[in-house]
Amino acid sequence: MIRIQKNISLASLSTFRIGGKTELFRLVKTPEDLIVTIEWAKKHKIPFRVFAGGSNIVFPDEGLKGLLVRFHGGSLKISNNKIIADAGVPLMKVIRTAIRHGFKGLETLSGIPGTVGGATVGNAGAYGHSISEVITRVEIWDGKKRRWIINKACGFGYRESILKHKPFFVLRVELRFKRGDKKELQKKSGEIVSVREKKYKPGIKCPGSFFKNVVASEVSRSAMKKIDTTKIIGGKIPTGYLLEEVGAKGIRQGGIRIPDFHGNLFENTGKATAKDVKKLADILRKKVKAKFGITLEEEVRYF
Ligand SMILES: Cc1cc2nc3c(=O)[nH]c(=O)nc-3n(C[C@H](O)[C@H](O)[C@H](O)COP(=O)(O)OP(=O)(O)OC[C@H]3O[C@@H](n4cnc5c(N)ncnc54)[C@H](O)[C@@H]3O)c2cc1C
Repeated sequence: MIRIQKNISLASLSTFRIGGKTELFRLVKTPEDLIVTIEWAKKHKIPFRVFAGGSNIVFPDEGLKGLLVRFHGGSLKISNNKIIADAGVPLMKVIRTAIRHGFKGLETLSGIPGTVGGATVGNAGAYGHSISEVITRVEIWDGKKRRWIINKACGFGYRESILKHKPFFVLRVELRFKRGDKKELQKKSGEIVSVREKKYKPGIKCPGSFFKNVVASEVSRSAMKKIDTTKIIGGKIPTGYLLEEVGAKGIRQGGIRIPDFHGNLFENTGKATAKDVKKLADILRKKVKAKFGITLEEEVRYF
């Protein structure tokens, strides 16, 4: 028997605190339970969706029909310089474990909310590094079979992977590290968390940066002429800069506000809706297109 909850608030399941209700809900903590749950939904012809930490999602105001499955929790195994983690394990738990073992490579991602599975799907990263740099392979279930996909076959790019676009469920992630000095890794991680807490005050209702940064090499020459190239960091034009240039800071749309200190942050001031979010995203996208000829793309995912 599978335990299913009914009429659960989506807002309570996402860091943005937006969304109606999901008809059916189930929390799973192991890859095996994820598979059993999806097979159950398929058998009963119930539509289903899977998510994890809910830190990069805009849920719909009208709610979701069918079953929403949350893969959050699980365990990890450590051997030599490797960690194999269930996809539902919080990313911070993986980072802390790595640091405790003197494993180098994930410390710059310290403070990113969500799970290691969610981070793998969106190739999460910060301060010039992304999780794909330490991933060796990813175990997926394609609805029929469990299999491992090697890093090269995951199509990792800037906040991208094929896992985002295929009907795959990420079950486990294998990460391989270099050796580092525990104390130095700990210090770096702590410093990054402190810097991040200034930008994202604890408890802020947001999904992180709203739009992706812009890859400079993908921008036309005519658009590049309008950019202050001193702003480019690691080959990316910060979207915060583009948005600030079109006057985004301080703008409000319904319950969403762009704070004064960060142009690429959509903050829910309390009663924001997904409709407010989409409307403001369209307004800002049009402004940036008109001024720079650049089309912004969301980093967040509309569910
Ligand atoms: C305050 C704050 C700061 C942030 N800072 C950063 C940052 O610096 N860098 C960065 O990259 N991101 C950042 N983010 C965004 C977010 O934390 C990351 O994208 C995170 O990796 C998402 O993980 P999650 O578990 O919450 O995924 P969710 O939001 O639950 O899901 C994201 C997507 O992945 C899919 N998914 C999740 N798990 C699975 C699975 N097991 N199998 C198949 N599909 C799955 C979901 O269907 C969804 O489409 C920030 C968010 C917040 C709120």
